[in-house]
Amino acid sequence: MYEQRFDKRAFDELRPMEAETGIIANANGSARFRIGNTEAIAAVYGPQEVKPKHLEKVDRGLIVCKYDMMPFSVPDRAKPGFDRRDMEISDVITNALNRAVLLEEFPRSMIDVRVYVSQADAGTRCASLTAASMACADAGLPMRDLVAAVAAGKIGDSICLDLTKEEEDFHEGGATDVPIAFLPSKNEIVLLQLDGKVSREDLKKIVEIGKLGAHKIYELEKKALRRRFSNES
Ligand code: ADP
Repeated sequence: MYEQRFDKRAFDELRPMEAETGIIANANGSARFRIGNTEAIAAVYGPQEVKPKHLEKVDRGLIVCKYDMMPFSVPDRAKPGFDRRDMEISDVITNALNRAVLLEEFPRSMIDVRVYVSQADAGTRCASLTAASMACADAGLPMRDLVAAVAAGKIGDSICLDLTKEEEDFHEGGATDVPIAFLPSKNEIVLLQLDGKVSREDLKKIVEIGKLGAHKIYELEKKALRRRFSNES
């Protein structure tokens, strides 16, 4: 049984969030997204020449994304270097961004996306994807929509939004974690992963609660971008 969340949040409540764009002077686009004690910083470079050249596509651009956790992002210093988890997360972020950015507008070009997790308390792939999509928009890339991502899941018998690490590690009754990303205005899912076991009915509920959370994140992303561009004019 999990009747009261460790941090006293309602089951459908997100952690406190912050979003800002244009935080890195030397990138074409950048953003920071914080949700609770999870924070991601993203930088976008390009569109630029494709390197290595053989990856070039004649009819569309290419997104290359690299996710990394800073050594001080977790209590026991994260091991430096690009491991299998970093590789997997980089791939799922790339796949989601491929659905959001209008790559046909950039034939023979590459967009380099770097995401760094400065603090990790679960949900880093979702926070990273949210930050990366804001950074793409900040770089002025034409997009079908922003990506809004959040993890939802089941802890004991309760469907929960935006799990913390403490909740992910909940043993009594088990925890299931489902990172989900949406293009909210298109009502499209661009990432859905499942860590744990869950029934079809519960998965539907998890996706629904995730969608509600993603819409709140989407509003914050749009607000951050509006703030940035109204400051410029
Ligand atoms: P996500 O961060 O997207 O939830 P995981 O499920 O792989 O991805 O990781 C869950 C959480 O486990 C991370 O957010 C972080 O809090 C913690 N974690 C991941 N890798 C490490 C690591 N190398 N050292 C300590 N904690 C880690």
